[in-house]
Amino acid sequence: MNNAMTISEQLWQGAVPMEDWTAAVAGGSITPVGEDVVVVHTSYVFGNVTAIRTADGLVLIDTGSREIGDQIFAAIRKWDGRPVHTVIYTHGHIDHTFGVHLYDAEADERGVARPRIIAHRGVLERFSRYDATHGLNSVVMGRQFNIPGYAFPDRHRRPDQIYDDVLSLEVGGVHLELTHGRGETDDATFVWMPQKRVLISGDFIIWAFPNAGNPRKVQRYAPDWAHALRRMEALEPETVVPGHGPVVFGAARAKALLDDTASVLESLIHQSLDLMNQGKSLEEVLAGVVPPAELLARPYLKPKYDDPEFVIRGIYHLYAGWFDGNPAHLKPAPAAELARELAALCGGATVLADRAATLLKDGKTRLAAHLVELASATAPDDAAIQRVRADVYAGCAAAETSLIGKAIFSVYRRDAEGLMRSPGPGR
Ligand SMILES: [Zn+2]
Repeated sequence: MNNAMTISEQLWQGAVPMEDWTAAVAGGSITPVGEDVVVVHTSYVFGNVTAIRTADGLVLIDTGSREIGDQIFAAIRKWDGRPVHTVIYTHGHIDHTFGVHLYDAEADERGVARPRIIAHRGVLERFSRYDATHGLNSVVMGRQFNIPGYAFPDRHRRPDQIYDDVLSLEVGGVHLELTHGRGETDDATFVWMPQKRVLISGDFIIWAFPNAGNPRKVQRYAPDWAHALRRMEALEPETVVPGHGPVVFGAARAKALLDDTASVLESLIHQSLDLMNQGKSLEEVLAGVVPPAELLARPYLKPKYDDPEFVIRGIYHLYAGWFDGNPAHLKPAPAAELARELAALCGGATVLADRAATLLKDGKTRLAAHLVELASATAPDDAAIQRVRADVYAGCAAAETSLIGKAIFSVYRRDAEGLMRSPGPGR
């Protein structure tokens, strides 16, 4: 057993963090799944790639990202040199699609046909949307990952063949069944290899609590996600290749993984809908839903990437639109106007900031954030207020378990630190 496989086992037992696995697979590591199938990993952050050997050439499921696609390419080519016949995108996210350019270039170099790309119809729509929102995506990703000047990729390789609900494929004697579902994305595919009982789940399984509520991305589909997982569970796979993280071997573990992930989503959906059907506001739904702690403690369901609270918001938004049920939020006054009113009432922006600092010390980071934003909106050029603001968001980030929560608070901590250094009018 290689180091990555040993750590995968420890990961399943909950004995080590995912960071240990990422360190073990860095540079490109292969997990064999029987004779003619390998899964290539480079880190937890970027998607896995599955390579299948057939009589007609290789089939790849996903291709890696712009950043690490070359590591995956090298690992696959070390394993098998035959041409890539078909590429299946499990969805259109760039860490799953962008490595494809390497295989196109290789085919051009060899003077053979480029791979045939197959994906759900929604991938085409996604790439059109990416073209329409290139600036937005560059800003959001650059801020979230703190990469100044980040440019979102813009040469998206379109699929050659699209499908709608299901697609059966036969490539060089290997049978593959593609099924569409909505989950983190609306264009997702899971792939079933009936001969080997191997399920390639794409990002329906990511070795973390489902990323169904990302605050800065388009709508996610928690109910469809749970439904897709139940369909996968019904296939009774013996191996699950997740979108991210290690391969899960054995029917019992595969079932637990799929069942638990579906169950955690179903719990949040049913609880949210119960309250919504009673006419509760978003705030009441957020306060009333109890995330299932036992499931969230599973090594493969920890809320390390997304946050159950964000997912509840996503569910509310899916069924009820953007209005949160607070009438003051339907047509709100400008935030700075409200802030100036409140600051004047309580004795000035500094009073608000001082109180925010006290609340932060008491661990009340949510309230502290409200007050320090009011202070900052009233006096954005006050370096002392921005100091408190930076401290509040450092505290907020530290209190989060999810990468998304930590990242967004960190954006505003850096914003406050920037304002501390360069205050003054005309900003
Ligand atoms: Zn992914």
